[in-house]
Amino acid sequence: MENVGSEKDWENDPVEGDNNPSHDGREPKNNFNPAMKNIHLSPIVRISERALEMGPAYREKTGKDFVYFQRGEVDFPTPEYIKDAAKRALDENRTKYPKSGGEPEFKDAILRKLLDFNKAENLTRENIVCTYGGMEALQLSFKLFEGGKAATFAPYWSPISENFVPFLQMDLTEIPLKEDFSIDFDMLDEVLKDVNIFYFNTPNNPTGKVFSEDEVKKIAELCYQNDAYLLSDEPYERIIFDGKEHFSAASLDYDNIISAFSFSKTYSMTGWRMGYLVARDPKVAGMLKLGNYSCTAGVVQFLQYAGKEALDNREEGEKAIGQMVDEYKRRRDVLCSELAKVDGVKFEKPEGAFYLFPNFTGLIPEDLQGKDRDEYVFDKLMENGVATVYGSCFGKNFGDNIRISFSTTPEPVIVDGVERIRKAFE
Ligand code: PLP
Repeated sequence: MENVGSEKDWENDPVEGDNNPSHDGREPKNNFNPAMKNIHLSPIVRISERALEMGPAYREKTGKDFVYFQRGEVDFPTPEYIKDAAKRALDENRTKYPKSGGEPEFKDAILRKLLDFNKAENLTRENIVCTYGGMEALQLSFKLFEGGKAATFAPYWSPISENFVPFLQMDLTEIPLKEDFSIDFDMLDEVLKDVNIFYFNTPNNPTGKVFSEDEVKKIAELCYQNDAYLLSDEPYERIIFDGKEHFSAASLDYDNIISAFSFSKTYSMTGWRMGYLVARDPKVAGMLKLGNYSCTAGVVQFLQYAGKEALDNREEGEKAIGQMVDEYKRRRDVLCSELAKVDGVKFEKPEGAFYLFPNFTGLIPEDLQGKDRDEYVFDKLMENGVATVYGSCFGKNFGDNIRISFSTTPEPVIVDGVERIRKAFE
């Protein structure tokens, strides 16, 4: 299997070389913003693109398909009732410049959803900004503290350190979770003293942990006491198993809370790029609205009308979400039961989202260090036709882990994928 999974050219970012290219050998006059050189294509995207490229060659050599466990894409189509609403909105010519911050009807649907599902009271249209995905909501919120200090629990979603923080030239402090992904509150309290913004994500990517109401309340309280903003990232709020419940920081009445929400995963709308943020302080929401206007001038109008229908049509919405979550749960169960049979692998069963973050310390040669160690499991799995993401990009202490996403893999593929993992370490 030489050459399959062993090339590392794809690790390099497309932009290489000097920061200030000159033309025709002339002395350079313009320096590009160094922030543009600090950002990277997320390893998740790079691995995905590479694995997809490798698929045909792997098939030719082995007669088998690659198993794609790497990306948080979803494999359900967007529900028909949402697509129909977008088509209707187009026919109604909802194609003009949108109202800054979002269309009133869309915001009202969001407010109803926030009240019914998140128990978030005392909010008005002034607290909400509609964004291009959760991604823009996060970007704008970090932007409030450009050049400042951020912190997050580790492991964390890798674009935080790969994109948001370097793009805004911020510092990032990682607060490692304990082995069972529980929180060291003393450490959190200490770190928050010197931090502008704390990024927090539940249900969590990459661990699948759902933080409890008590945990979220304690985090919010500590952020408030330490005068740090709490940026609560909640795109997986509805993908949750075993009767667990998502508790949203948006329901807490502290001025320093911003919550980011998304349609991507809940309604299988990753490509629509729709999300919104809720800032408890309307003045902050006002700034973020101007930030949004400066970047994109707002979310396409007809998409907002489809988003309104997605939220308001509870019967269709709950039916679609229920079907997706049932399927994700079946996949999670089969993944956990199969992986439990692989000696040397340890993991916590995900309670939400669609990721598992197993630890392979027991299977990594003790003398391996640094990058060789960090990519040992990942490389071995790529060689065996299984794409995952190496743990080191989710936090400094997690090089012995990998992230497995079960968002696009039906049960038989999961069984096959885990069998390949087992064989890779035989
Ligand atoms: N936050 C987390 C933790 C995610 O995993 C993702 C997407 O994978 C997002 C935010 C952004 O989602 P989107 O921009 O598609 O709404």
